Amino acid sequence: MTDDILEIYNSVKVSIDEANSQSDLDEIRVSMLGRKGLITDKLKGMSLITDLEEKKLLGKSINEVKNFIEEQLSSKRSAFSEKDFLESLKKTHVDITLPGRQPSVGAINILTQVEEEIVSIFNSIGFGVAEGFELDDDYHNFEALNIPYYHPARDSHDTFYVSDNRLIRTHTSGMQIRLMKDIKPPIAAISPGKVGRRDAIDAKHSPVFHQVEGFLVDKNVSFNDLKGILELFCQRIFGSRTQIRLRPDFFPFVEPGADLSATCVVCKGVGCKTCGYEGWIELMGAGMIHPNVFEHVGYDPKVYSGLAFGMGVERIAMLKYGITDIRMFYENDISFLKQW
Ligand SMILES: [Zn+2]
Repeated sequence: MTDDILEIYNSVKVSIDEANSQSDLDEIRVSMLGRKGLITDKLKGMSLITDLEEKKLLGKSINEVKNFIEEQLSSKRSAFSEKDFLESLKKTHVDITLPGRQPSVGAINILTQVEEEIVSIFNSIGFGVAEGFELDDDYHNFEALNIPYYHPARDSHDTFYVSDNRLIRTHTSGMQIRLMKDIKPPIAAISPGKVGRRDAIDAKHSPVFHQVEGFLVDKNVSFNDLKGILELFCQRIFGSRTQIRLRPDFFPFVEPGADLSATCVVCKGVGCKTCGYEGWIELMGAGMIHPNVFEHVGYDPKVYSGLAFGMGVERIAMLKYGITDIRMFYENDISFLKQW
């Protein structure tokens, strides 16, 4: 090894030993192996040597120093990396003995829960489920349900029209028409879903709400069947002691029609503020399917009879859980929603 190579070797050895950081190592690498580095310079200078033996020996010793520098830099670099890592660990100290943070988990909305409960009760007694369309046409929403355009009942279904013939359904009964047109009796189905009416928003009204409507058609279906089914439903959803009361009411698609009330869930029939001190709470409309509806779907009203009923999911949920304002369901207030 020539004197100047030896000198480079000794000085670089000291520099690497004394290096304190990655950037010190970078500097050494550039000053030795960089484009203008000492070792690079020496390698370039070899082209001027004509003596082959001398060239060979010099080349060998330069390469030895070059390899030495590369090895030393690399091992020192790993040592620094490890040191940096350990120091960063100290800075971001993690106490692995602490309990973990519980991620917040969402839950099924109370309206969906109540709708599912209603659906499962009717499922358990043989009713199928058909959801239908939120946007329907005049025929399925009104005409086929015995509500022609001149009918005063349309006033109570103040409607969001999308075009002359398209509307946001005001009830889910349109699905019943479609089902009856497709399927011959016996048939029993419920149709849950979102509906819309042009109601002003207050504690009891919302322009968008949810309904479950159901019907059953067969030979010899009687009003007694209607009463039995709805009594069973009310007892399953509000408790086995619940009683029902049916009073005559008018709905164009049923005859006779009835308004169904159940004993107040709060006072159990004694009388309280919730039930207006009557002991009864109006729950839903029901009745025997009107012969005109059967004619629209091609069922013979002399052969078949059927029952139908419809309820608001919000109303059931409000009574079941003592919720006094329908707006609470839609305000997405977590403190309200997380109660269920
Ligand atoms: Zn009451």
